[in-house]
Amino acid sequence: MQKIIKNCIRCKICGQVIVSKHVHDFVTCKCGACSVDGGNVMLRRLFKEEGCYEELSKVKEVDEGQENK
Ligand SMILES: [Zn+2]
Repeated sequence: MQKIIKNCIRCKICGQVIVSKHVHDFVTCKCGACSVDGGNVMLRRLFKEEGCYEELSKVKEVDEGQENK
């Protein structure tokens, strides 16, 4: 099971780093080529061209049942 620590990409066209901080936080970079959404619930991506962004998200592998240790 994966836990999303940071939902974040960098646009390769304008160079802006965009972060979705919560589930309904839809953020588009300044040139409009790519967007992030989903916060730390899901990694949702919208983009005009495949490969126009660099993935910077941080996810952590979590063993089920060990979250509350
Ligand atoms: Zn951009």
